[in-house]
Amino acid sequence: MTNENPMKGAVPLTFYEPQKTPRYANNVPALDSYGRRIDYLRVSLTDRCNMRCVYCMPAVGMQFAPRPELLTNDELLLAIRAAAAAGFRKLRLTGGEPMLRHGIVDLVRELKAVPGIEHIAMTTNALRLRKLAEPLKAAGLDRVNISIDSLDAQKFRAMTRGGNLDEVWAGIEAANAAGLTPIKLNAVVVRGMNDDEVIRLAELTIERDWEFRFIEVMPLTGVAGLADEGVVTSAELVAKLETHFGGLESLGHAASDPARTYRIPGARGKIGFISSVSDPFCATCNRMRLTADGRLHLCLLRDNEVDLRSAIRSGASQSEIEQIIRHAVYLKPWGHGLPEGIKPTLRGMSQLGG
Ligand code: SAM
Ligand code: SF4
Repeated sequence: MTNENPMKGAVPLTFYEPQKTPRYANNVPALDSYGRRIDYLRVSLTDRCNMRCVYCMPAVGMQFAPRPELLTNDELLLAIRAAAAAGFRKLRLTGGEPMLRHGIVDLVRELKAVPGIEHIAMTTNALRLRKLAEPLKAAGLDRVNISIDSLDAQKFRAMTRGGNLDEVWAGIEAANAAGLTPIKLNAVVVRGMNDDEVIRLAELTIERDWEFRFIEVMPLTGVAGLADEGVVTSAELVAKLETHFGGLESLGHAASDPARTYRIPGARGKIGFISSVSDPFCATCNRMRLTADGRLHLCLLRDNEVDLRSAIRSGASQSEIEQIIRHAVYLKPWGHGLPEGIKPTLRGMSQLGG
């Protein structure tokens, strides 16, 4: 590796100084400074998308990263091999829309072959899933989360600024048929837009063995005004669903799963609530993000980043990159600062992948 600081350009600046920074032990899982084991990497494959959801991107003024700024497949694979050596075991491919990434099927195959990577999931808007579900499953994709905010075609089109609901349904059925299961469906609940649909959306779990997850809208840059009408909290939704269905059966939640899950009595599937704003799950956070332009983003709702791309492009070896990843894990902040009024300003959700 050159002497150049590989974290130069990270925002806010966090300096990795090989001479001053302790070397992290290899062959042990990476722990952050609070003792949390971080083994789940959410990988954004592109910041581009074929939809423009109101809660994710502004209507105008989106600027996308020029292609040379994105990690190439070889660079990404090097980063993932180093992450796996640092103890990362699960990947989630996201974006933007991950299925817009050229050569996605081959990329999934190569990622799944990385020693140490045990599980690969994808979060997608499903517009390309009808065609890609089977090849992706054959390439090693384990399962998918699919965004579907409304069951009304017109409202869906409005919320996604152009999305075709029929195509999303076809994608969901294709994922089911291909065995990309258990399928989880996501809706971001926005007051005055789809909060009147939560009963219908929850009802999908009665007949189908799906998990339907309601997500609180997060005030990321470009869409922060959406929360001005008040975030529709999970507590508010539980109360609404219980008024309609009677008491929901609480199923609890796995420590590393942000969703608290419930079941409508007698239903085949589950309902999940992701309460990042009203009831954050920072204490059990096990995740970090890699942006499409090669930054490790340490907490979804903070701006702290560590630059991997310049290290990769300056010829760093896999074990040097592993050290940078271990250091980034160590620097992971405890949690977000929304309760203190600190909002992230650096990137929008489409650049982070949720
Ligand atoms: N395009 C894919 C999709 O929509 O599923 C993957 C990327 S999208 C950024 C990942 C997740 O972030 C989706 O479930 C989406 O609903 C969620 N999301 C986007 N903006 C959000 C916001 N402001 N607050 C909460 N969740 C958001
Ligand atoms: Fe695209 Fe997903 Fe953002 Fe919607 S939520 S604009 S589908 S990246």
